[in-house]
Amino acid sequence: MNTQTVIYLDNNATTSLLPEVRAAMEPFWTEHFGNPSSAHRFGRLARKAIEDAREQIAHYLGAFPDELIFTSGATEANNLAVFGLPRSRGVILASGIEHPSVREAVAALVQRGFSQREFPVGSDGIVDADAFDSLCHGEVQLACLMLANNETGALQPVQALATICQERRIPVHCDAVQAVGKIPVHFHELGVSTLSFSGHKVHGPKGIGGLLVRRGVRLTPLFHGGHQERGRRPGTEPVPLIVGLAKAIELAHRDWQSRFNHVRQLRQVFLDGLRRGCAPIFVNGPEHDGLPHTLNISFPGCRAEVLLMRLDLAGIACSAGSACSSGSLLPSPVLQAMQLPEERLRSAVRFSFSHLNTLEEVERAVARIADIVRELRQGSDEDLLLAETSFPSRA
Ligand code: PMP
Repeated sequence: MNTQTVIYLDNNATTSLLPEVRAAMEPFWTEHFGNPSSAHRFGRLARKAIEDAREQIAHYLGAFPDELIFTSGATEANNLAVFGLPRSRGVILASGIEHPSVREAVAALVQRGFSQREFPVGSDGIVDADAFDSLCHGEVQLACLMLANNETGALQPVQALATICQERRIPVHCDAVQAVGKIPVHFHELGVSTLSFSGHKVHGPKGIGGLLVRRGVRLTPLFHGGHQERGRRPGTEPVPLIVGLAKAIELAHRDWQSRFNHVRQLRQVFLDGLRRGCAPIFVNGPEHDGLPHTLNISFPGCRAEVLLMRLDLAGIACSAGSACSSGSLLPSPVLQAMQLPEERLRSAVRFSFSHLNTLEEVERAVARIADIVRELRQGSDEDLLLAETSFPSRA
């Protein structure tokens, strides 16, 4: 099956590059190849492209241009915030539903003598920021709370947490990767100290993202050896990627409402279709108030890894709510933090939509999925064998 006929429902993992974005980048791969740090005209042209992009992106995200640091993506931006914000050894507060690029960075700090406390998470996938007071003893150096969860789409009470933290002068880092470009995100209104985002989640290029850092917030750089990004992220800037990022965010900002409405309709049709075609199913995460781009569903009676493989063969690309790093199948830490029953953990699959998906595609996907789920529920030894030998990973 060629990729043209596959129905791509894994847009939280990555999205396709829009033709307008590619066109905007094009001259910067070829004739405008200058190093932005060079003083001659090649350099000046590249520098202008970067500073224009910075201004544009900062404007769309409710920040000042000098608050934006370009990074290689959100993994780097999250690491830069988690390692760069704490001023001395102490406590890090983080939710149990953070992306591994936050979770594992915090774990590395714990190895260096910090301690970690987790916000409790409800069965709807939303953290309880009201628990802050009971967690907030000792020297809290940082609180991490993502804006929209990548596995469930649950929106988190970031602004409420930031308000409490501001009163106590505790820096807050917000991973906004799955929200930027999908809903309006306003850095200053959120009130956080730092906020990360990534190009390839919004139909921009891979390998570029950013960290917004509020004026006055002290951030220790991860890298050394250059003056770029005012010394906070040295290294020659990837001009074409930065230009592409700005274009992708511009388009997302311009069209967000119509994209959002379209995706919400897709999700509803998808969900209704599955409920008709292969009940019982369970939605993991909020059914109505999360980001409609994400739909995490458990199909009791199916093993997620088998279902995924069957869906792949049937031309549907999506991802598991379970991952494996060391040879044993592990349920998703996010769904575990939500304390879902074992059967729901083991049968969870994430579908994620973009405005480029069509209604017709979604209807076709539903029919194929329902057939496969019904078939798997009838059970076969072959499927169980597959479950024992396959180890998918989660983006
Ligand atoms: N945070 C979240 C919530 C994500 O979904 C991702 C991508 N899977 C990242 C961080 C990492 O982004 P990048 O791929 O740009 O490193």
